[in-house]
Amino acid sequence: MKIPVMIPMLGEEEALAAADAVRSGWVAQGPRVARFEREFADRVGARHGVAVSSCTTGLHLAMVLLDIGPGDEVIVPSFSFIATANAVRYVGATPVFADVDLATGNVTVETVEAVRTPNTRAIIAVHQGGVPFDVAALRKAADGWGVGLVEDAACAAGSTAYGQPVGAGARVAAWSFHPRKLVTTGEGGMVTVDDPEAAVRLRRLREHGMNVSAADRHASAQPVLEAYLETAYNYRMTDIQAAIGLVQLGRLAGLVAQRRELAARYRDLLADVPGVTAVRDPAYGQGNFQSFWIRLDPEFRTGRDEVLAALAARGVSARRGIMAAHLEPAYADLAPTVGPLPVTERLTRDSLILPLHHALTEADQDLIVGILRELAGG
Ligand SMILES: *Cc1c(COP(=O)(O)O)cnc(C)c1O
Repeated sequence: MKIPVMIPMLGEEEALAAADAVRSGWVAQGPRVARFEREFADRVGARHGVAVSSCTTGLHLAMVLLDIGPGDEVIVPSFSFIATANAVRYVGATPVFADVDLATGNVTVETVEAVRTPNTRAIIAVHQGGVPFDVAALRKAADGWGVGLVEDAACAAGSTAYGQPVGAGARVAAWSFHPRKLVTTGEGGMVTVDDPEAAVRLRRLREHGMNVSAADRHASAQPVLEAYLETAYNYRMTDIQAAIGLVQLGRLAGLVAQRRELAARYRDLLADVPGVTAVRDPAYGQGNFQSFWIRLDPEFRTGRDEVLAALAARGVSARRGIMAAHLEPAYADLAPTVGPLPVTERLTRDSLILPLHHALTEADQDLIVGILRELAGG
């Protein structure tokens, strides 16, 4: 492919930082993880960061933190990467799918309210593709209903809502450092919270339920006898990953600014292509444009999959839009209970993700939009 859909921004600085961690002799969770947690939490507006092995494991811990279990219902968008729904099942609870807003691809107070029942214990709302959901409205509604709100911020590092980073004011948010996202550590994730007791519990849950971290135990001059307070997990991040993450964090502001410029240029170029609606900022916030997705409306005369094939034939690697979990075999057993999700089904059928990354040129954008303009007429 001449134009990939995404390229992670990794430089010599990341390579040197990883080598430093290796040479230090401390490669498991240690001082670099602790520093990455502080700097990341600061950057996203949260008081505490707890590094984990992925956003998926972070979402699992968020479910455990909120005491979700069998018999509980957790409302999630079907329109998300499948890990969002899977986290609910890891604790034996039942995912209940809410539809999303056509413009943002995110759940709203109305779509959540439509599927809420007396068994609803929590919501996992997603800042999909980096587009913030309406945090003020949904946090207030969740408080009013007395249900926990977990924010799947896998894609949202660098996005803002109401003038603040999306992590600010979240009860619990989970972030991803997979190479598909803006900040990468290879694999990796973070859970952010404001409540110090929640942070203590999360640290314990990611490290076998131990009351003292292995790093603190090794750093102590006196022997420390640890205790295992609950059955938990090994979801730790390594210091090699955190060393890379610290360098990546320094790139975030520049990456977001560049993506926002490229996204604005895509939108200008696409403005006169009939039947194409491009993702844009909601009124209350600004996205990081981790994914630039477009929706093909009926005036567009070529089907989405044909568009993907035509782009591929010209060396452009685009992707189908966000998936819908309720249409996957893993969730077929829920089919009898899934209510109508017309917007989800329309978006997942008719949307696609265009290439957007730091190495994308204006000539690349012109080529891509030129192909779309040809296809628009059928
Ligand atoms: C990428 C992604 C995840 C999973 O992140 P990992 O770090 O790969 O586990 C979860 N939710 C959403 C919305 C994502 O985009």
